[in-house]
Amino acid sequence: MRKELTLKIIERIKQSGKYCDLMSNGTLIDENVAEKLVSYELDRILISLDGPSASVNDFLRGEGAFSKTIEGIKNIQKAKERFNSDKPKIQISSVINSMNSSYIKELFELAKVLEVDELELHQMLVYESTEERVGDLKLDRREKENLTQKINKLENEAEESEIRFDGDALKISFEDESEPSDDSEEYFCLQPFYTLLVDMLGEVAPCCPGGSSSEDVGLPQRSLEDVWYGEYLSSIRENVSQGKRMKFCANCGVNNLREDLKRAIN
Ligand code: SF4
Repeated sequence: MRKELTLKIIERIKQSGKYCDLMSNGTLIDENVAEKLVSYELDRILISLDGPSASVNDFLRGEGAFSKTIEGIKNIQKAKERFNSDKPKIQISSVINSMNSSYIKELFELAKVLEVDELELHQMLVYESTEERVGDLKLDRREKENLTQKINKLENEAEESEIRFDGDALKISFEDESEPSDDSEEYFCLQPFYTLLVDMLGEVAPCCPGGSSSEDVGLPQRSLEDVWYGEYLSSIRENVSQGKRMKFCANCGVNNLREDLKRAIN
């Protein structure tokens, strides 16, 4: 989507000497796009791939996605070779759920064959609004235990290989099953103070897990300034600054990150 605009933005960011990551499913990266990404010196590209084969990946990503994504990765590798460049670093980023959890070893093997730099696993977040549609993809306790063992093994294997393998975020998400605390000292998030997400319908949210606003506070009806300073986002910022957790915060990766940081510091 908006391929030309995205490329222009990347070019401008890199011309100004800044670091730039791109998140993509890789399906639109033909030879021409790959060449531009490499020549602009994009620093890193995170490519979503949720399985080592079309049957696993395409169930989650749509028919035909697997072959297009693999083609996209190959196009980048070829362009890097042509330009004799080690940028962009390529990360395969996988969202793990009950459909693909038994295939992470195969995914790791595929990452090696494709010679990508990183493989990172993430937990699939199921929000209240999506529970009915995808709730049965949530990992159960046995799947989590099996997965933890596999991740530990792969971490050892990865030390011997060139790939940076990261399953930590996923493992930590398994450990953190407890109800979020309401303690204001424990809970504070800055994201609603600097982020505004706008979806294709113009509805707004303070962050990804925040979902979409109701129609009357979205951009089609109001100006950006009105939305930013309006009652909806202001009340979220007010609550968060008082240490009050929004309902949608329970599913947020920021909580996992906070736990991760606490562990690292202690
Ligand atoms: S869901 Fe809550 S904790 Fe997560 S980014 Fe949004 S406001 Fe912050």
